[in-house]
Amino acid sequence: MAAIYVRISKDSEDLGLGVARQRKDCEEKAEKNGWSIYDVYEDNDISATRSKVRPQYQRMVRDIEAGRVKAIVVYDVDRLTRTPRELEDVIGWADRLELKLASVTTDIDLSSPSGRAMARMKGTIARLEAEQMSLRLKRKMREIAESRRYMGRRPYGWDWRLDETGNRTHDLVLNKAEQAIVEECARRALGKERGKEANLHTIAQDLNRRVIPTGRPSRGWRSKDVRRMLIRPINIGYQEHNGVLRQGNWTPILDEDTYNRLVERLTDPERVVNRGTPQRYLLSGILKCEYCGQPTRRQYGSVGRSRVKMADGSTKLYEYPRPEAYRCPPPGCQGASQNREALDYMVTEYVIQLLAREGVDLFGGDDAALTRASERVQTIKAEMELAADRWAEAKMTVEQFDRFNARKRPELEQAQLELRQAQPLESMQEFAGAGAREAWEAASLERKRELLRTLESFGLSMTIGKVGRLGPHKRDIPAFNPDTVYLRAGWKAAPAS
Ligand SMILES: [Zn+2]
Repeated sequence: MAAIYVRISKDSEDLGLGVARQRKDCEEKAEKNGWSIYDVYEDNDISATRSKVRPQYQRMVRDIEAGRVKAIVVYDVDRLTRTPRELEDVIGWADRLELKLASVTTDIDLSSPSGRAMARMKGTIARLEAEQMSLRLKRKMREIAESRRYMGRRPYGWDWRLDETGNRTHDLVLNKAEQAIVEECARRALGKERGKEANLHTIAQDLNRRVIPTGRPSRGWRSKDVRRMLIRPINIGYQEHNGVLRQGNWTPILDEDTYNRLVERLTDPERVVNRGTPQRYLLSGILKCEYCGQPTRRQYGSVGRSRVKMADGSTKLYEYPRPEAYRCPPPGCQGASQNREALDYMVTEYVIQLLAREGVDLFGGDDAALTRASERVQTIKAEMELAADRWAEAKMTVEQFDRFNARKRPELEQAQLELRQAQPLESMQEFAGAGAREAWEAASLERKRELLRTLESFGLSMTIGKVGRLGPHKRDIPAFNPDTVYLRAGWKAAPAS
């Protein structure tokens, strides 16, 4: 039985190597070799140089180790392995389990030394190309940055200038129609409309009513689009690059005085009412996956369908509800998934108990510990400064300096954590002690999430694993298993009792 392994990445799209094509070619190859197909394993990752989890690859490895798969078919060896280390694994299976490998582009016989040498060489070349590509990309970015040209996609208000042969350059020229819109919005955002201070929402709606294009595929103007457009430094000829503002070579649309007034008005924190969609679920992004550490997200409830065998041999479609769950989303391992409501309840009860018992110590502060921790932080900082001086005076090598810092950094982090914990936390006092339940119940969802994040920073870990095996038809129901919910209050610095 053969496994077909396909991997989608940026370069495969560039080469027109869509996943459908990879797969079809692999199926033909398997047929030619007289192999029947056990399963198709399909991973999606974007760059070959970045290491990411490949869940399907892992599943294939398990099938190989279990002897279910005796051969792998891939489009090219560089689809299968991304590091020399992974290739050696494959060669090891060829030895140990007589695993066969076939690729569409070349025939590779892993049982012969020359075949292995070829596989290794192909892997090395693919890796080299990937590394050179990112190096070239970085060099290019820097080159463009230094030349004062604009980087990124076309900004609203300008067009790319075309050279004499009609090719796009990196230089910008004003787009008169869009320039007029930017100027109009700036004027309106700074002025008064119908006696009231101008409202970005009204401006956006007006643009939509007049069917002014946004310059990119979208549903139209939103107030945050108008805001973002007006406070772009590009309006006065600057662009931010790696956190540094640099002057570009294009014609600005706004003068600096107008721009500064816009920034002042539009970034006033009291004005910003709606900052993105508020979270609607207690633990979304807070609860972590036990296997890969990714924050879990809420997964929609849905209807599961399964064919059930009847006594007379016929099958019947059985539908069952799949309730909402918190699940490890891609690009995570997608392993952990459990019922949302049950988790909300369990974490709530756990936290209320914890706060009733330890909240006073936790948020109340500790003077002696505070002094101790603050002295410790200052000592470590001084030691690090001293080492930097010694290195600057060439009394220490770079390696010694690095080693010293690598040792000191975790010590400093630990001391800073103790310092944070020793400080009284006014903002969370209401949740401490006997009133914990009442305070929790009265708190808004945002506030509860803030509290959970605070507890997390104190050392509370909240992770979930798999539910485990249930019945055959319940396999996919995001059910709940309290044994694989891990709530640990590992206070790194135990609060003084
Ligand atoms: Zn995971």
